[in-house]
Amino acid sequence: MLYCDRSAAQTPCAGLLPLSSERVRICGRLRGSHQGREVYSGNCGYFMRFDWTDEQLALKKAVLDFARSELSRRGHEQDHKLWREGWNKCAKFGILGLFFPQIYGGHEAGGLATALAMETLGTVCCDTGLLFALSAQMWSVQMPIWRFGTDAQKRRYLVPLIAGDLIGAHAMSEPESGSDAFSLRSTAQRAGDFYVLNGSKTFVTSAPEADLFLIFARLPDRPGLFGLTAFLVERSSGVRVGTPIHKMGLQGAPMAELYLDNCRVPKENRLGGEGQGARIFNDSMEWERTYILAWQIGVMERQIAETVSYAKERKVNGKPISGFQVVAHRIADMEIRLEAARLLLYRAAWLKTEGKAAAKESAIAKVYAAEAAVASALDAIQLHGGYGYSSDLGIECTLRDAVGGRIYSGTSEVLRNIISHELGL
Ligand SMILES: Cc1cc2nc3c(=O)[nH]c(=O)nc-3n(C[C@H](O)[C@H](O)[C@H](O)COP(=O)(O)OP(=O)(O)OC[C@H]3O[C@@H](n4cnc5c(N)ncnc54)[C@H](O)[C@@H]3O)c2cc1C
Repeated sequence: MLYCDRSAAQTPCAGLLPLSSERVRICGRLRGSHQGREVYSGNCGYFMRFDWTDEQLALKKAVLDFARSELSRRGHEQDHKLWREGWNKCAKFGILGLFFPQIYGGHEAGGLATALAMETLGTVCCDTGLLFALSAQMWSVQMPIWRFGTDAQKRRYLVPLIAGDLIGAHAMSEPESGSDAFSLRSTAQRAGDFYVLNGSKTFVTSAPEADLFLIFARLPDRPGLFGLTAFLVERSSGVRVGTPIHKMGLQGAPMAELYLDNCRVPKENRLGGEGQGARIFNDSMEWERTYILAWQIGVMERQIAETVSYAKERKVNGKPISGFQVVAHRIADMEIRLEAARLLLYRAAWLKTEGKAAAKESAIAKVYAAEAAVASALDAIQLHGGYGYSSDLGIECTLRDAVGGRIYSGTSEVLRNIISHELGL
């Protein structure tokens, strides 16, 4: 039995009504089953489901059990090093392959389930740098290889990335080009069966540990965007990794500069065609902006639970602070932000899974979640008073982590440019 939710229309028949099979045939297609009912996805905008399938709930439970038993012990501050053991456990469990096809070692769990799994990890795992670094690899390294790579490239790189045998990093930003990424200066000069790369990259997440770099460079003989090209560059082919860049949060995701000094890359390692770099970059950013903050939403959920229990326990003049309406409302605002961020994530994830364009929706989801995380971390600190400001409880750390979300994968300002452009401004 399929149900149609007409409540949004506020009609007298609001509530859950049976949908005729004819209506189903017109509106949706069968996607599977849930609690003995057939589940359809609509394509006419007439109905919408907000519950999860049995498979998705089972995945969430498995991820929760895994995170509690394997990822909960390590704290926030990790001296700018990747927790390799945690990475390997996540890879073995299948996190890196959640979205990707089984033929490459993935699980084809779907976009929504992948978002749910990452969110669930964020509710338990305090090594947020690890979650960020895993996400960065999934969306900005694995995804472009899957979408633009040759079968040989997928077998050589995507399979071991998913298995955890290789670590990958995405290298676009340069010391003099960040938001204006396409102004990059690194060059790739064709020399027979090789390209020779020169230049430097900065802010490269996971660079200190990475075995493989997705590097964007410019063909000197092709002007502007037509020259931008992507390459899969093995560390052993002459990439020099600088000393780790220390940053205010996400300590468990190490970052470094790269130096390319006559780095020779075989032509088979060009990702996509010559001049396809901008397209590959834009495509992977749309995926990354959709999903990169899923774990952060889990952190926000955990933070609310901790703040609620603290507000009930902490007494002022013998009464719990939760009794102050201003305190309760501040926590209510945290919950509003969490739910809004979550729905925006699911909507963008659904669009991407359905193969629909989501430039605006992924930008909205990312801007909102990033700014919500900062606002809620500030609220959590305020509500914990001096204990929130001290580093003992790890709450101030969530603020430092959250600030990064307003910068990576496009700053909030640049994403607002994308949103306003999509609105025709
Ligand atoms: C934690 C973290 C991880 C990262 N990981 C990677 C990675 O793995 N690979 C990689 O290549 N890069 C990575 N980056 C770099 C990131 O992509 C850039 O920092 C980001 O694109 C901004 O570029 P920028 O730092 O040069 O700032 P700039 O572009 O110089 O911007 C400075 C300020 O100007 C504003 N601004 C710039 N242009 C505009 C505009 N057109 N309109 C309005 N305001 C504007 C910005 O919003 C910002 O406030 C990472 C960054 C962080 C913080």
